[in-house]
Amino acid sequence: MSPLLQNLIQALRCLPGIGPKSAQRMVFHILQKDRLGARRLIEALDAALEKVGYCQECRMLSEESICEYCSNPRRDPSVLCVVESPDDVIAIESSQQFKGQYFVLMGHLSPLDRMGPEEIGMPLLEKRFALGAIREVILATNPTVEGEATVHYIAEMARTYKIPATRIAHGVPMGGELKYIDAGTLAQALSGRRHCAE
Ligand code: ZN
Repeated sequence: MSPLLQNLIQALRCLPGIGPKSAQRMVFHILQKDRLGARRLIEALDAALEKVGYCQECRMLSEESICEYCSNPRRDPSVLCVVESPDDVIAIESSQQFKGQYFVLMGHLSPLDRMGPEEIGMPLLEKRFALGAIREVILATNPTVEGEATVHYIAEMARTYKIPATRIAHGVPMGGELKYIDAGTLAQALSGRRHCAE
């Protein structure tokens, strides 16, 4: 196979879930059938890489320094929902059950992967807690061992600032990820949230 084709196949494998076979299929499809689509992909990728960064307040992906959720005056800044990833923000938004603000961890505590409090934005979250405007922090991490460890850490931190911490209810299956849960189940999980145990 030509080196350029091999190179392209290898490059596509940076996408999640794309193995060598799928990458090869994509490359042949693009080159045989959709070169125009490929150009558009390059432009869209290039623009996103150039312009999309992280919100300075909540760490959501955003092309502005303050994202659309943090800057929306109709959202309630006294309720903060903490999630692991930008996908989770989109999933919770689709449930239309939440009108507060978000904080995106961009992961969870996981010492084996070198994800400590610093990596998941705890200094920024603590600064937010210290401002004193938050009445409730809803912990909506994934129901996994790492997600629970993260909940525990943040609930402890919230307690030192006397902020009530709640955890979204069951209905989110253990080991499942928020982003794969349907909007109705997620709405129920949010409305059935419980206070974190001391
Ligand atoms: Zn934001």
